[in-house]
Amino acid sequence: MEQLARCPVCGGERIIAYRPGTLAGFDLSPEEIKITDRGYGRLWDLGLCRDCRHVFANPCPSPALMNALYAAVEDPLYDEEAEGRSRNFKKILAALERLLPGRGRLFDVGAATGILLDLARARGWEPDGIEPSAWAVRFAKDKYGLTIRTGNFETAGLPAGAYRAVTMIDVIEHTPRPAEALRRAFEILAPGGLLCVVTPDIGSAAAAFIGRKWWHFRPGHLSYFTRRSLTRLLEGAGFAIIRRRRYAWTFSAHYLVSRIERLRFLAGEGRFASFLRRIPIKLALGDSFEIYARKRSTG
Ligand SMILES: [Zn+2]
Repeated sequence: MEQLARCPVCGGERIIAYRPGTLAGFDLSPEEIKITDRGYGRLWDLGLCRDCRHVFANPCPSPALMNALYAAVEDPLYDEEAEGRSRNFKKILAALERLLPGRGRLFDVGAATGILLDLARARGWEPDGIEPSAWAVRFAKDKYGLTIRTGNFETAGLPAGAYRAVTMIDVIEHTPRPAEALRRAFEILAPGGLLCVVTPDIGSAAAAFIGRKWWHFRPGHLSYFTRRSLTRLLEGAGFAIIRRRRYAWTFSAHYLVSRIERLRFLAGEGRFASFLRRIPIKLALGDSFEIYARKRSTG
């Protein structure tokens, strides 16, 4: 664990305590940081930057610890929701394509089981991506025939200026070094290339009303962005924001019921469970940012 004296977004030193956490240092397992983890409301001690309003784990787990945990994650439940996730990803790809006519190479950071890359390929993109979980990379190969790089985005050797689009869907909040991740995204994009970032909005009404039980408060999340801190991070890395949207999630009724303690008994196996699996539910909570930003030309 590392005590941060400066804000990981703006470098400001006016850091105050924001919310006491419920996680003790090293008791985290790969099981607890997977995407479909149910442990909402479990969080690190959080600090707040008074300059850019960024909220972040402080002390912060080291990149080495997080990398080791993500490398070991196995999350079969993630791909069971492929249909709902596909709906979300198709909207993102369509938005990218409107802002950036034509196709080319697309890089997905934290590609998980390859759902987005599979869709991108079908729409004419040349897919590439990286994912720390060896299990997910194998899964993407077996199910979609996709070759995804195994490893950590911030430290991987990637070709500079090679991609027309980079997607970071629910990724930036997981990394102990968000500024470093955006610098890398800038580096690998071609001039004029587009970055799409989706990440929870701690300044949203949902976050304020739900409080501690906000579903984005979870052990895998180390950064919680506000409009100000995310803008600052993107602009600081050399991006110009060209489109802002609110992200609406689609899940099956089965998945949502299985997340709710008192309704979980409905989500077993059998005919009712498979019925629930076929009902898509759109959660328009508006508590995530969906931002498109263009790489500014340097020099
Ligand atoms: Zn700050």
